[in-house]
Amino acid sequence: MITMSTSAAAHAVTPSSILVVEDEQKTRDSLAEGLRLETWSVATAANAAEAVAQLERGVFDLVVLDRMLPDGDGLAVLRHLRTRGAQTPVLMLSARGELDDRVAGLEGGADDYLAKPFAFAELVARCRALLRRPVLSTGHFLRCGDLQLDTRARVAVRGAGEIPLSPREVDILEYLLRYQGQIVTREMLERDVWKQSRRMTSLDNVIDVQMMRLRRKIDGEQAERLIHTVRGIGYRMGQEAG
Ligand code: CA
Repeated sequence: MITMSTSAAAHAVTPSSILVVEDEQKTRDSLAEGLRLETWSVATAANAAEAVAQLERGVFDLVVLDRMLPDGDGLAVLRHLRTRGAQTPVLMLSARGELDDRVAGLEGGADDYLAKPFAFAELVARCRALLRRPVLSTGHFLRCGDLQLDTRARVAVRGAGEIPLSPREVDILEYLLRYQGQIVTREMLERDVWKQSRRMTSLDNVIDVQMMRLRRKIDGEQAERLIHTVRGIGYRMGQEAG
């Protein structure tokens, strides 16, 4: 049985782990101290390079990410995270509260955005909300290679072209994208997409037919396949071969 370490499951036993990326030492220290008082486990990074190193070493439930860092834009860190397929919620901080920054942050894959200066209580409330949110409902744009799904508009685009999908196909695609890099079993699709908890009659055939149609639409005329079959088990979405 393949399970994903969703926040809900992990939080019952271990404190949530938060990575705070902030270059200003005073702010960083007080954020870390305050968040620890909320009983969260906190790691810190003072610049983009440290943040990337931390993200490659450990798994976090949430990243609080300052936008302006001495060695680059926080958006680059965010992109790095999302390119690897991680759906970790990210709360962006910025001294600039302009709409453009907010839009850039959210389109870059951030889940929330807080303009400085902010009240610490507000930061805690936002963190709490993001940690509560199941992994399966974070993010707005999901990507894999040149495929992008806008989960709000429910529109899929690959390369330059929009791919017409049925509502069910959008649901499946979103699910595969959220679990990209991992094996998605038929049981998972049945439970989470078809919402059938009891297998009175197996949906395997229905699922296989739907998947065949979806793959034809997504990968049919493409050189690179994104949806792969894991023989006897299910499917995996990703850029890697196999
Ligand atoms: Ca800064």
